[in-house]
Amino acid sequence: MYRSHNCGALRAADINKTVTLSGWVQKSRDKGFIIWTDLRDRYGVTQLIFDTERTEAKVIELAKTLGREFVIQVTGKVIERESKNTKIPTGEIEVLVVQLEVLNEAKLPPFTIEDETDGGEDIRMKYRYLDIRRNPVKESLIFRSKVANEVRNYLADQEFIEVETPYLIKSTPEGARDFVVPSRMNEGEFYALPQSPQTFKQLLMVGGMDKYFQIVKCFRDEDLRADRQPEFTQIDCEMAFVEQEDILNIFEGLTKHLLKKLHNFEIENFPRMTFDHAMKTYGNDKPDIRFGMEFGELNTVAKHKDFKVFNSAELVVGIAVPNGASYTRKEIDKLIDWVKRPQVGALGMVYVKCNEDGTFKSSVDKFYDQEDLAKWAETTGAKAGDLICVLSGPTNKVRAQLSALRMELAERLGLRKPNEFAPLWVIDFPLLELDEETGHYHAMHHPFTSPKPGQMELLDTDPGAVKANAYDLVLNGNEIGGGSIRIHDKETQATMFKHLGFTPEEAEAQFGFLMDAFQYGAPPHGGLAFGLDRLVAILGGQETIRDFIAFPKNNSGRDVMIDAPAALDNKQLGELSIKLDIQ
Ligand code: ASP
Repeated sequence: MYRSHNCGALRAADINKTVTLSGWVQKSRDKGFIIWTDLRDRYGVTQLIFDTERTEAKVIELAKTLGREFVIQVTGKVIERESKNTKIPTGEIEVLVVQLEVLNEAKLPPFTIEDETDGGEDIRMKYRYLDIRRNPVKESLIFRSKVANEVRNYLADQEFIEVETPYLIKSTPEGARDFVVPSRMNEGEFYALPQSPQTFKQLLMVGGMDKYFQIVKCFRDEDLRADRQPEFTQIDCEMAFVEQEDILNIFEGLTKHLLKKLHNFEIENFPRMTFDHAMKTYGNDKPDIRFGMEFGELNTVAKHKDFKVFNSAELVVGIAVPNGASYTRKEIDKLIDWVKRPQVGALGMVYVKCNEDGTFKSSVDKFYDQEDLAKWAETTGAKAGDLICVLSGPTNKVRAQLSALRMELAERLGLRKPNEFAPLWVIDFPLLELDEETGHYHAMHHPFTSPKPGQMELLDTDPGAVKANAYDLVLNGNEIGGGSIRIHDKETQATMFKHLGFTPEEAEAQFGFLMDAFQYGAPPHGGLAFGLDRLVAILGGQETIRDFIAFPKNNSGRDVMIDAPAALDNKQLGELSIKLDIQ
């Protein structure tokens, strides 16, 4: 038996018991006649004491050889500590060691296994198994497991069935490139790894499964942005005989269940906001509504004077920064530099200080009088003591820029509180999106999304105006889930493919199986998928997902621990009939 207790279990009530513990040596303090060693495992840390008066000499000798991260087993007696440590649950006791066995030695770890480590990101990723021994990473993985369990509990209660779908499939368009796998047995042919199980879950509905879910890996070969993983996990769901309202209710229920179970946080019904409203008010389709600073569009109150910058702009829009009137000139200049950085891309920023005495001082006093500025304050909701920041330019661009500024300022002002949760549904997305480069429309969600009732006719005349029966669940400024009511008849699906630029032959070759299935009694259906990695990170009060993934890839999509991706040798390439012709 390696252990009678774990390293987090012993309390004052256990004093005088003889116990056996196993774990890793966190650190040792050798005072000559006494050695204290902290023994760690997943559950906590217990202090061991080796005492020349009470422990055998040969055990003391061995104890002196223990290095950091040695794996040991000890048997001894639980005794009361002289100086108690109130910071840890086992802090009232220590174990007076009688027997010690070294189960395995350890090389000196390349970074300290402490909550605050001296290891940088790269080294921690290379030795991720050591990083996982650290509390913050360990706790994050345990938290993830809890979230997944609660998801399963809730969905099982609602009679969802977990079904696995294949990983070696054919391309499913979700807007990214596919990872492909060559088939040895079918020379020159390739599988694609699923960008999501979208078509399979729809086929499960045709199969009568009715309520499906799966916690599932998805693969997308996208240009990597910070904090994006080429493989990630979704809570993928689909239901038959449902309308949008049914889906929103079930998954609002799931989100409430998670907030209640994990944070004891209760929340009323989630607000619903149209895509158009979100874009106009927050410049963004995933607004963080934990704080205000809503956009005020200033076209009608700012385009009537000689200020060319505004007069030539498609949109003039501002936000009120609470208590920002006290910013110094230098601070405001820094803010202006911030919006001009290439990542944000604004050409400049106009500001108005709303003084406590009700007067205004702006960077455009030459053009606008107090009466004008009062209207700006009214439109942006600025109060005395606030600062109004105004950007102008092409509508889409300027909205994105002001949205970035709004989030940055909220972060600086401490308005994005990690322990506050403000979920909402964003609905009525456009069905199609114009690709500015090619001039073609593509599906904003995916090609299986149905238009809102009665909008199909618009497809021919004004495709950009068609609204989708699609919805996103947004939490604290992040999209955590999204889905749609699907098309479930062949004719509509074929029409949709036509509008997306597929010839009938291409549509048949790629999605014939789905359209065939639609001819054999496909029920009305819809669903959504949550991004589990991000959901867990946000519920865990953080925005970087990497620490919630046991073995993540780095920003270039590499696993630096196992060193993947890697080249294949010629034999393996030969078996796969792949010839590399790289210059
Ligand atoms: N397959 C979609 C996605 O991965 C989710 C859905 O429509 O259910 O975003």
